[in-house]
Amino acid sequence: MQQATKFIHAGVEPDPSTGAIMTPIFQTSTYVQEAPGKHKGYEYARTQNPTRDQLQKALAAAENGAYGISFGSGLAAIDTLLKLFNPGDEIICTNDLYGGTYRLMTKVWERYGLKFHFVDLTEPSNIEPFLNERTRMIWLETPTNPLLRILDIKEICHISKERNVLIAVDNTFASPYLQNPLDLGADIVMHSATKYLGGHSDVVHGCLIVNKEELAQQLYFLQNSCGAVPGPQDCFLILRGLKTLHVRMQRHCENGAVIAKYLREHPKVETVHWCGFEDHPNYEVAKAQMRGFGGMMSFTLKNDSLEAAYAVLSSTKLFSLAESLGGVESLIGHPASMTHASIPREERLRNGLADSLIRLSVGIEDANDLVRDLEKALA
Ligand SMILES: *Cc1c(COP(=O)(O)O)cnc(C)c1O
Repeated sequence: MQQATKFIHAGVEPDPSTGAIMTPIFQTSTYVQEAPGKHKGYEYARTQNPTRDQLQKALAAAENGAYGISFGSGLAAIDTLLKLFNPGDEIICTNDLYGGTYRLMTKVWERYGLKFHFVDLTEPSNIEPFLNERTRMIWLETPTNPLLRILDIKEICHISKERNVLIAVDNTFASPYLQNPLDLGADIVMHSATKYLGGHSDVVHGCLIVNKEELAQQLYFLQNSCGAVPGPQDCFLILRGLKTLHVRMQRHCENGAVIAKYLREHPKVETVHWCGFEDHPNYEVAKAQMRGFGGMMSFTLKNDSLEAAYAVLSSTKLFSLAESLGGVESLIGHPASMTHASIPREERLRNGLADSLIRLSVGIEDANDLVRDLEKALA
């Protein structure tokens, strides 16, 4: 089945009790049993909910996976995943990652005895010195946030193949439209569905998608035991978002290319980070593992001061100054004081995240209107 058909149909059946073509919002906490223990497969809504079931199937299908597990947020998904591990276990992570993930790992999970190594994985062999008998997982985010570096998922899976190590990929930036990590050898895909999957900036949601049954059963056990489950209305909104993912992503990619090229030619702009440039250091990997380059990018100004960056950030009209990404509307943000403020400044600078860096989530408005908006702000 082609992607466009899959995003609309896969995993979703009309409601068996009414024929409703769109999955109803089952706003209930419990289900009536005919006799003790005799029920229709639903007992209590933390454990099972029909709206969530349909979404989990649709998400699994979107990533070419077998099992989807949904959560109340992207971070709830990562938090639950980390409960697979025991004190003393080690996890190797890319060093250019979402600030909230870094905070969850270092401020919460280190207290419970997990050990994290943050490593530049744009060079896959950098993993090797950190792999040992306690390594349990490699955590990847690609394209990375906010520098749009690309990690070679296939190569990293190949290096760690002989070991008993799970490979997990935060696929939020690419979305299943552009990249399917399970097909490249990963064991776990994670999404903040708050972003491109929902697509309309009206819901917070997260998910994990896997192929191996045993791993899925462990994660369903943790989903139910720890209880960070999404509400049915949120599940409905993600189901609806998923149906237009391909048309939205096509436009995000087209507009992204227009804006990235425009910024690169602009006399006041120093560097543009976007993985669709042929001279991007990881362009070949991006071309091989992605179907397009998306609408996320970041840039610095020739005048590398906070004041100059703040002037741009507060002058755009169509690009709204806000955290988050992946919605139909364009957003502009300042990682150092917004999404990445939870990473210490020295750590940020070491990873190449300048104070003046500006991040764009290019939406699906008219590209010329977006260019004019940036033109005025840069002037
Ligand atoms: C937003 C985001 C998260 C966290 O997801 P929430 O839904 O906000 O909890 C994780 N990773 C990436 C790349 C994100 O952009």
